[in-house]
Amino acid sequence: MHAAIESFSPLCDLHFFPMSTKDFDGERGYACLEPGCTRCYSSTLGLFDLDHEGRILREKFQQLCPRDRTFMYLDSVEPGGIQTWRCARVSCNQSQKLKSRAAN
Ligand SMILES: [Zn+2]
Ligand SMILES: [Zn+2]
Repeated sequence: MHAAIESFSPLCDLHFFPMSTKDFDGERGYACLEPGCTRCYSSTLGLFDLDHEGRILREKFQQLCPRDRTFMYLDSVEPGGIQTWRCARVSCNQSQKLKSRAAN
């Protein structure tokens, strides 16, 4: 199953900065540009890390859309650490609010 994605800018879930688009073997994804940060996102892999040799290290924990199981991305963070995650599927629009794990 290939999820169509509209243009969006996921936030790095560590820095909360918008990620930049990056090409992963022909597939569009996103990467955090903070020095030393290895966080990346694509709609088929979800959130993952890219090691210094360019290997993809997949996350065990992924935020999945409750409706269609598409990987969700971090869309925004409110003061107080409430995170809004959105489904990457154009037609879905599902979003979830989560309290930051770091704030617990
Ligand atoms: Zn980052
Ligand atoms: Zn969805």
